[in-house]
Amino acid sequence: MSGPNAPLETALVWFGWRVRTYEIMGTHFNEPADLLDPDVQAEAEADIEAADFLGVAMDCSTFSRIREIPRPGITKARPLRDAEHPRGLPRLHEKGAERELHKVDQHNKLLDWSTEQLHAHHGRGGGWLSENPENSLYWIQQAVHELSECEDVVSYRYSACAHGAARAKKQRIDSNIPGIASQRARCLHVHDQHEWEPIRQPDGSRRLVAHEESEFTAGLVFYLAAEISAWAVRTGRAKLQLPRFRIRPVETGSRVGWHTLNPALLRSQAMPGHALRLRLEPASLSRHESCPVLTSAGHVQECRTDQFYVGRGCERLRLPPSEFQPIFPSGEGTAEYSPDWHSQVVRFADTVLGSTDWQRRIHELAQRTPVIRQLIVDEPPGVPSHGEVIAYWMWRAREENLPVLSRSGSSPAAPRRVPAPGLGPLQLREVAGPP
Ligand SMILES: [Zn+2]
Repeated sequence: MSGPNAPLETALVWFGWRVRTYEIMGTHFNEPADLLDPDVQAEAEADIEAADFLGVAMDCSTFSRIREIPRPGITKARPLRDAEHPRGLPRLHEKGAERELHKVDQHNKLLDWSTEQLHAHHGRGGGWLSENPENSLYWIQQAVHELSECEDVVSYRYSACAHGAARAKKQRIDSNIPGIASQRARCLHVHDQHEWEPIRQPDGSRRLVAHEESEFTAGLVFYLAAEISAWAVRTGRAKLQLPRFRIRPVETGSRVGWHTLNPALLRSQAMPGHALRLRLEPASLSRHESCPVLTSAGHVQECRTDQFYVGRGCERLRLPPSEFQPIFPSGEGTAEYSPDWHSQVVRFADTVLGSTDWQRRIHELAQRTPVIRQLIVDEPPGVPSHGEVIAYWMWRAREENLPVLSRSGSSPAAPRRVPAPGLGPLQLREVAGPP
C-alpha cells in the first residue's frame, strides 16, 4: 500500500522514467482514478500494454491478518477472510455484515482484474512487481499464487526496517526482475519491545500504528527503482541514469526510539535525499527541479559561487568548518557503510523538523543570491550525509516560492476523472517507461 505519495513512481522519475498512476485518492502525477470503472480499466489496460513496467500494490486491509491480533484498548476488527475462505468468510452473507461483504467483493474484483493484468504483462515479457505483507492472505489467492509459481518469478521476503522503516515488519514483493531479490534485508536490529503498541491520543482514545508503516520507505523505493532501471537498461528497453551506487539494506544497529519519529521523516521527507545520495540529478520537468544537488568535497577543485560547503572543514579546499556542519559525531572507522551514518541522518532530520531555528537558517540559505545549486559534503557518493536533509529543506523553501503551476506533476497531462463515490481504497500503480 503505497498511497497518494506514490513513492516508487517518484523514485523512478529521478531515474528518468515516465510514469502513470491509477490511484483512488490521486497522486501528484495523476488525478484520482477508480479502477472499478470499466472506462478507467480500458484506459489502464491500454497503458499497461504499452508500458515497460507495471507495479501493483493492492490495499491489504481486507487481506491482512492483523485483524486476528488482539490489541489492548482497541476494538477488534473482525477477520473478513481466512486460509480456508480466501475470497471471504461465510459469515459475510449474514444480516448485518452487508458493508463488510461489499468491501470484500470490491477488493475481490480489483484483485481479479489486477492479477489478470500481471499475468498478461508477464506473458508479454514486461517487468512487474506486486507487494503485500508477508503473511497477507493476498498471497494465497489462487491467481496470485499461480503467478508466484512461474519459473522466472522471485519472491523477495524482507524486513521493512532493514530498508529504513521504524518498526520490524515482514514484507514480500513478487517480481520477474531478479535484481529485486538480490540484497538480503533481514532484521538483526535492536527494537523497542513496545513499538507496535497503539498510540494514546490526546483525547484518551488509542490509534493502531500499522498505518504508519504502510507506505514504502524512501530507502526501499530507491533500492527498487535502481534495480528496475538496471533491468530496463540490461534488457535494452531504455537508456536511463544508472548510478554506480545502490541504496543498501541496513540489517544491524538500533531502531529503539524510531517508532516515535514522524513517519514522513523516513518516507516523503527523505525522498530527495536518497536520490542525491546516489548523485542523481532532478529530471527536467520534475517537481524537484529547485532541489540543490550534492557533490563530494573529494570531487571538487575549488568552491564556486553556486556551490556551498556544509562539512566539518576541508584543508585541501581551504574551507573552514561550515555553520551548517553536522551536529552529530561522524561514524567511526573506515567501513564502507556504517549503520551509524544512516542513523545520524535520521537524527539530524528529526532535529531540523523540530527546530524553527534550523529551518529559518536553511530557508535563508535557499534564498541566497547567487543561487546555490550544489551543496558540497564531506561524504563520498553513496554514503548517507546530513547534506541530504539540508537539500530537502532548501527545496521545500524554494517550492513555497514558486508559482503554483510550475509545482504540478512531472508526467504528461492526464485526462481528468471524477472518482466514483463510496469505493474502498485501492492502489494500483502503472509505470510506463520512456518511449
Ligand atoms: Zn529491524
